[in-house]
Amino acid sequence: MSEDIANNYQEINARIAAAAQQAGREAQDITLVAVSKKQPASRIKTLLASGHRVFGENRVQEAQEHWPQEMRAAYPDLRLHLIGPLQTNKVKDAVALFDVIETLDRPKLAEKLAHEMEKQGRDLPCYIQVNTGEEPQKAGVLPEELEDFYDMARGELGLDVCGLMCIPPIDAPAGLHFGLLQNWAERLGMSTLSMGMSADFDKAIRHGATHIRVGSALFGAREKQ
Ligand SMILES: *Cc1c(COP(=O)(O)O)cnc(C)c1O
Repeated sequence: MSEDIANNYQEINARIAAAAQQAGREAQDITLVAVSKKQPASRIKTLLASGHRVFGENRVQEAQEHWPQEMRAAYPDLRLHLIGPLQTNKVKDAVALFDVIETLDRPKLAEKLAHEMEKQGRDLPCYIQVNTGEEPQKAGVLPEELEDFYDMARGELGLDVCGLMCIPPIDAPAGLHFGLLQNWAERLGMSTLSMGMSADFDKAIRHGATHIRVGSALFGAREKQ
């Protein structure tokens, strides 16, 4: 297993380099966020041993279990991204643990985050999650609300909103959604785009992704539950 992960890591880095080259971009401008949700600690350790330091988790409690204080202390250059929906009652823990919040998706959450960051003296970069497919069951700001929400979160609340994030609908061509997100980021003057997962990160890179979130292609299948 640990050999597999080291090989997967090499292969994914090679694919990032190839996609970047095709798009006339630099591979170093693309950050691989290794999605460690529902992965055993041993696999995470293997990737840390390969030198990787940027990880994504989608639940606060699981992230606290994966990344206890002693782990953070052992890897001071670790960067943890929250990539799952954040409940307001978990904001305090999230602000204490994470380095980037990728799932800013509603005014109430923006208010709580601003308040808590001020209290803890932490100013975390935030990305707005956009529900590009306007799916009722999916989190994210609707496209028509994006500009007002951005003005509110950044202008009124002073959050460091520096990027956009999306999860395209499962049955739609992902490239279309990546293209939309890229246009909106450009219009709002944002430089960061988190998009693309195991199945489509090459495509996302061709559409300007600066952060790709890759789980199963890197670590193998997730634990069920
Ligand atoms: C689980 C998850 C991923 C990683 O998915 P893979 O298909 O395993 O690469 C990426 N982004 C989000 C938001 C996720 O929840």
